[in-house]
Formats: sequence, C-alpha cells, structure tokens
Amino acid sequence: MDSTATDLTLGALLSSAEPTDETSRAVRRAQLAALVRLGPATISIQLLAAAIVCVALRGEVPVWELALWLVCSFMICVTRGMRAWRLRQDEDYARRRPAELRAVTLVIAALAALWLVPPLVWFARVSLDLQLLVCLLCAGLMSAGSVTLATVPQAATMYVAILTVGTTAMALHFGNSAQVLLTWLYGFVLCWGVLANSRQFVSNVRARLELQEQGELIALLREFEASGSDWLWELDAEKRVVHVSRAMAEALGCTPDQLVGRPAASVLDPDGAVARISAGMRSLFDHARRGAAFRDVAVPMFGGRRWWTLSGKTLVDSTGRLIGWRGVGSDITDVRLTGSDAVRAARKDPLTAIANRLLVREQLEESLLQQAGGGPCCALLLVDLDRFKLVNDTLGHAVGDELLCEVASRLEGAAGGATVGRLGGDEFAIVWTGSCDRAELGGLAERIMAELSRAVPVGSSALHVGATIGIATGRDAASEDQLMRCADLALYSAKRAGRGSHAFFEQAMREEAEEHRLLENDVRDALNSNALRLVYQPIVEAGSGRLVAREALLRWDHPVRGEVSPDVFIPVIEDAGLMHQIGGWVLRQACTEAAEWPSEVSLSVNVSASQLNGPGLANTVVNVLAATGLPASRLELEVTENIFIGDDPATLSALDALRRLGIRLVLDDFGRGYCSFGYLRQARFAKLKVDQSFVRAAANGDADCAAIVRAIFALARSLGICTTAEGVESDREAELMRQLGCDQLQGFHLGRPEPAEVFRPPTEEWQHRRSGKGA
Ligand code: C2E
Ligand code: CA
Ligand code: CA
Repeated sequence: MDSTATDLTLGALLSSAEPTDETSRAVRRAQLAALVRLGPATISIQLLAAAIVCVALRGEVPVWELALWLVCSFMICVTRGMRAWRLRQDEDYARRRPAELRAVTLVIAALAALWLVPPLVWFARVSLDLQLLVCLLCAGLMSAGSVTLATVPQAATMYVAILTVGTTAMALHFGNSAQVLLTWLYGFVLCWGVLANSRQFVSNVRARLELQEQGELIALLREFEASGSDWLWELDAEKRVVHVSRAMAEALGCTPDQLVGRPAASVLDPDGAVARISAGMRSLFDHARRGAAFRDVAVPMFGGRRWWTLSGKTLVDSTGRLIGWRGVGSDITDVRLTGSDAVRAARKDPLTAIANRLLVREQLEESLLQQAGGGPCCALLLVDLDRFKLVNDTLGHAVGDELLCEVASRLEGAAGGATVGRLGGDEFAIVWTGSCDRAELGGLAERIMAELSRAVPVGSSALHVGATIGIATGRDAASEDQLMRCADLALYSAKRAGRGSHAFFEQAMREEAEEHRLLENDVRDALNSNALRLVYQPIVEAGSGRLVAREALLRWDHPVRGEVSPDVFIPVIEDAGLMHQIGGWVLRQACTEAAEWPSEVSLSVNVSASQLNGPGLANTVVNVLAATGLPASRLELEVTENIFIGDDPATLSALDALRRLGIRLVLDDFGRGYCSFGYLRQARFAKLKVDQSFVRAAANGDADCAAIVRAIFALARSLGICTTAEGVESDREAELMRQLGCDQLQGFHLGRPEPAEVFRPPTEEWQHRRSGKGA
C-alpha cells in the first residue's frame, strides 16, 4: 500500500464508484464514519438556521408555506439524525446496514435543495433587512457544511454547489455582477478547502492503516523468529494463496507464482486423502472453515513422509469481517523425533520419556497414510494395567510413578521397535507396522502380557500387575481417531471377558457400542420422564412358605423397545455414571413402599459396585430410613462378588459403614463368579443367595453339584449365614433345595416380580402352595 499523491487525484477523491481494493474500502468506511460522527452537529445547524428563517419571515411569508418547508426540513433532519445515532450506537446495525456514499450524498443534496427555497421563492417578497438575513444564513451554512461534511468531498462539494446556486440567485436579484462573481469565488474557495481537507484526511487514514499493518507484520515476524519457523504464507478470505515465501514453495516443489491463487486445501491435500486419515489436517481445515486462528498444528505431508507445522492468524477489516489468514510454518520431520527442542518435548511423556498421546496419534496417522499408499499394514494395541489404581492408592504416587517407568521400559523391550507411548494414567499404546496377521499380533500381545506379569521389584517388596490389551488394525478403521476408538472397544471387551487377556476389534463391538450409546440417551430421558418403576419378587421361608421378604427389581418401559431387561440397561446406567442417582431413587421408592408392608416382611434392594464408592450410599440409606420410617432391621442390601474385583479397600469400609447402620448385607448370585468364601467372612454377610445355575444343575441330577450346594448350605449355617435359593421354577427344585438345607426360596414357582400394591394375602391355599405341601 502506498499513499502517493497520484492515488489522491481529484477524480479519485470525488469518485462515487465502489472502491475495489481493501485499503480504499477501509478509507471510504473511515470517511463515512467521520461524517456520521459529525451528523448531529450538521443537523443541529440546519435546524437552527431553518428555525431562524421561519421566525424572521413569519410576518411576510404565508405561515403555511413556512410550516410546510419547516416540516420537510424537520423530517429529513430527524430521520437522518436518528439513523446516524443508531449507526454510532449499534454495531450490529452498522454492520448490517452500513452508511453508503450514494445515500449519504443524496441526503446532503436534499438538505441543500431545501435551502434553495428561501432565496428562490421568498427572497423577492421580503423586506431588505430580511433579505440580508437570508443571505447571511446561506453563506454561513455553506461554510459550516464545508467543515462538517469535509471528510466526504463528494457530499461537501455537492452541498456547497447547490447553495451557491441560491446565493447566485440572490446576487442576481440585486443586479450586481460583482456580487455574483464574489459569490462564485466564495463557493470556489470553500470547495477548494473541502478538497484540501479531505485529501489530508484520506492520507491520514491511509498512513494509519499502513502503520497498523506494519505493526501486525512486525508481530508476525517476531513470532516467526520465536517459533523458529522457516516460512511465511498468506491466504485470502476464500482460503486461496495470496503469498508464500520462496522456501515454502520450494518445499512443495514449485515456485511462489505457481501457488498464488490456488486454494490452500488443494496445495496441502490434493485428493483429500490426508484429511480422511489425519486429525491434524482435519483440525486445520476445520479452523479455516470457522474462520479461526490456529497454532502449531502438525500435518503429515506427502503421504506421511514429511511433517509440517503451521500457525495462522486471521486478518480482519475494521468492521471485523474476515479477509484472510497470515501465518508461519516449517518442516519438523527431522526434529519431531530426534531433536532436542520444544517440538520434540511436546511429543514426549515427561514421566516415562516415551511417546505421549500426541506422538502416538501422529505415528498412527503416518502409518495409516503409508498403508493407504500401499505400505505395510498397521495396528494399534492399547494396553491397560490391571491393578495400577490399587498400587497408587495403597503405596503412594511415587511408587506408582516408578512402576509406570518400569512398565514403559518393558513395553519397549517387548514391542520390538514399534512406537510405544503413554496415553495418560496407566494406559499405554503400541503403534505396530508390519503384518496384521492375527496370530502374529496375538503373539505380540501375549509377550507383552507375559512381560508385565513378571513381578516388579519396588523397594524391598515385589509388585504384581498384569495387563489387558485391545487390538485394532488399519483394516478396521479409516482414520486415526476411528482406529483409536476401535482399539478402545476391543480393550473394553477384553476387560469384560476378565482381565489379563487380549481381544481383537470386531465389527459387532461397534454396533454394540452404538446401541449402548442410543440406550444411554434413552436412559437419561427415562430418568426425567419417570419411565422407571419397581416390581417386587417374594422370598419365602423354605419350610413354612411364609413370606419373609420382597426383592425390589427395576423395570423400564421403553416407549419403542417395550420392556427392557435390567441386565441390559443397568450396565448402561453404570457406564453413564448415573447409578448413584438411579440407585438413590430405587432405595427411596422401595423403602417408601415397604414401610406400608406388614412388619415381618423385609425389603431387599440390589446395589451396584459403583454405588459403593465412598460414603455416599451409607448417607443415602440413613436419610431414606429416617424419611420413610422403615426400620434398618427390615432392609437388606444385595451386592455381587464383582464389587471385590477392584481390590479396593474403600469397598470394605463402605460395607462396614452400611452394616453398622443395622441393615443386613446379602451376597447375591453366589456360584456365578469365583465363589470365594473368603469374601463371605471378610464382609460379614448376613445372607447368601445361591445362583439359579446351581439350583438348576442340582435338580437336573448333577450329583457333584448337589454335593457342592449341600456343602455351601452347611458351611453357611455354621457361619451363621442365612441362605436363599434363586430362580426356583418348579416344585421339584423347591423340594430339592429344602432337602439340601436351604433356608429361603425365591423364583417364579414361588411368585413372579409384581408391582408393590399386588400384595397377595397369605390365604391358606397360597401358604400351602408355597410350603410345597399343595401343588
Ligand atoms: P438378580 O439380583 O439376580 O435378580 C433376580 C433376577 O432373576 C430378576 O431378573 C428376576 O426377575 C429373575 N428371576 C426370579 N425368579 C426367576 C425364575 O424362577 N427364573 C428365572 N429365569 N428368572 C428369575 P431381573 O428383574 O431381570 O433382574 C436382572 C438383574 O438386574 C438382577 O439380578 C440385578 O442384578 C439387576 N437389577 C435389577 N434391579 C436392580 C436395581 O434396582 N439395582 C441394581 N443395582 N441392580 C438391579
Ligand atoms: Ca438380587
Ligand atoms: Ca441373583
């Protein structure tokens, strides 16, 4: 941009054409803004002069003429004045309906034209002293206009010219040619002054813009130096190249001229293949689409063979409209992995000195791009440590950190040259390139698990951690983040199958996850719309058939799926982190209803592992019992063995706290998991529920199973623990359980889960049936 006088010729100054370049547009906006700023002054002067004329001429000119003229002046002044005021106050309005040169000039011309009326229409009719007054007012308005309108010479000269017509007419009235000449000289001098002033104004604005741009450039160059960048580039608002430095063009194998005008996307990622795989490239395009600045975005170039980093600032005009980007960039391929500077540091896990999440992500992008280009297949192994939380919680963070470092070095040993990284916490990743043969990858996973299951000596003791691994290959996913998600799903599935194992990603996992996600949304809705309800299943005394308790079971009536099984939706609730909330509701609802039951009938409520974190549950129980009036002795809480999986000492103390409240703890589903009697003693359960699978097997003539069940009942009795057989579906099963020594029975044969109000009266026939003497 330059502000030589050639740009400011008379023609350029007075041109009413729309400016084409950005600088001229900015100048034009500044001119109009200055005019708008002086709008109130211009309008006040106009109104004041009009008022003076009307008052002075009222005796000699018909009032209606004066009134009509005054109203016209007033209308133009008020409407334009209001618009000027709004333009100054309301930025949004100013952006939507900016002041335009043509419209402004037209308004000024109209105002000036109004001032032709006194000289041309009324002048001849009034006395000499009033004629003098009109002359003076017109002359005064001309000079006032040449000052307040000077920033827009088109409008100012038009105003002066129109008023000169009026003053000329007045001079002609006196028949004095010298006066006419003087009038013209006056008009000419004013116009000349307007042009000189506006030329000064325009060059001031230009100088200011230039300074501002230089300031931005200096800031950019500073950043350029500070970031050690090699290249400069600039794009326009349509993301087309406006400028690139020669070195950058050379890196792309062409000259700057060949790049100018091309869309940036077609330069960085000609066929869009990189953006499909690389999150970095997508992030770059996303910022560009949103018109946002970006910083140090690393993108793979040339099929992942080189890495570039790009930073860009947005360029905006004075109205805040985006006009492009300007930024810096450099090739970081060589320093990314081996350099010692900030680029490398940003990719290293500070604790273990292996790759961090960023580098793992980039390596994945690189491997996927190479695979897409016909290179070797790639795979991602996500490694999750099994008992890390326990180590961290019990032995402290210093030991935990030491353990993580040891794990990192063992992983590097086992991975045979593949990139090993820590994603955070106790989650590690291995980016593998080579064969994606399942046997080979499975072998790698086994080696890793074997390495990590060896004891880790820490101080005088040895720690045993294991690992669970999820594996996904480049054939499962098209992009880095998809591959990450696939491996994550595989890991999740491996964890569910039991820790210390590995799993490959399967398509069904994705569908299951999607289903899970949909259900999760619905569960949230269900919570808000009261679509959850409770039913109660009777538990009877085995000998007498007397009803001793009812177990609360959740039901969800889904608007589309119908009744969804708790086996399906409880895990969803758990994963969504809603179990505390729903568990609290179940407890409150069940206790409220149970408080109405006969006092000899207890209430049994299922409690999930996640509800046992912290003191929350004990507090809830205390509050609920107090609120509902249900005695603690009538409440049983059922938990399953999997609450012990995490080896969390907090679980035992949570159970302790609950038992101290006077409620009974029940071990549910005994026989489905590990059947550890250790747990029974540890948590001092009051009751044990034998899983339906045992009941069924024993009733089907499995002698070993029957012997085990008998032993369980005997052992439980000797420990003072009550027993319940679950899922009793026939008379035969009920009879067998009684014979084997079971205390209580539960199952469809004794009663199905039913709403609270369906409380069957213990009729004789019913009692009979339950004690097995009828049927
Ligand atoms: P669970 O605690 O073992 O509950 C007993 C399940 O066995 C119930 O299934 C019940 O309807 C079913 N059942 C009872 N008698 C028979 C029978 O004779 N034959 C057969 N085949 N099944 C029988 P439901 O209601 O589908 O609940 C499934 C599981 O969902 C429950 O197993 C429990 O673990 C969980 N659950 C249900 N409600 C809640 C709750 O409010 N909170 C928590 N945390 N879990 C719940
Ligand atoms: Ca249960
Ligand atoms: Ca059960």
